[in-house]
Amino acid sequence: MTTPRLYKTEAIVLRQRKLGEAGKIVTLYTPNYGKLDAVAKGVRRPKSRLAGHLEVLTHTAVMLAHGRNLDIVTQAQAVESFAPLRADLHRLSRALYAAELVDRFSPEGAEGYHVFQLLLATLRRLTTAKNADTVLRHLEMQLLSLSGFQPQLARCVSCQRALAATPNYFSPAAGGVLCPSCGPGAGGARPLSLNALKVMRLLQSGSFAEVSRVRMGPGLAQEVEMHLRVYLLHVLERDVRSAAFIDRLRREGFWEPAGVSG
Ligand SMILES: [Zn+2]
Repeated sequence: MTTPRLYKTEAIVLRQRKLGEAGKIVTLYTPNYGKLDAVAKGVRRPKSRLAGHLEVLTHTAVMLAHGRNLDIVTQAQAVESFAPLRADLHRLSRALYAAELVDRFSPEGAEGYHVFQLLLATLRRLTTAKNADTVLRHLEMQLLSLSGFQPQLARCVSCQRALAATPNYFSPAAGGVLCPSCGPGAGGARPLSLNALKVMRLLQSGSFAEVSRVRMGPGLAQEVEMHLRVYLLHVLERDVRSAAFIDRLRREGFWEPAGVSG
């Protein structure tokens, strides 16, 4: 595909880093070009016209010019700045986690339409949702599916039998659920309650509207979060660039190396 010298796109700003005296490299997530880095010149100067439109998490419309290495942002106009997210530390930290997760899962240049829509919907939901954690669980499971890493939740990944309505086991290393015959002693397998399995299936196959109607007590919510967290760590550990991110997830809990086989 050839792109014209100047092109316009919607984008969500995933992160920024300093460049030279006054510039920044911004990592953008776009619907048509996936993830891309672009140079924003002079954006750290107080009078920059671009700065307010390229903050992390902003949904923005940008004009880009092809550069020799990286493309260059020539114009930017914020579409949604998600002010309520920035005003609430709990919502902000979850929104930053969402952006970082999308960043880690997305190789540069991969098609990004569905991931873009998912991230945009996630940021909108995080500004209003009563249960911000459910928003994140839905993002995690949907992102796994869009990246081809969806866990197998319908049948036992070892013996292939349909799962009975009983407690089972979940094994990131095996790629999904293990039945009561195959689970015990399998590497990294942890007990999975029937309700947690139901919630995970809904997160995988249901709409967000359906997911948000489920009332989860703290114990169930924590169990689902733990299984997804350990699964995400398992998938992301193949990618050395994610090391710092993984360390942070570990510090936030749920990681018990003794119970998990590498
Ligand atoms: Zn089995």
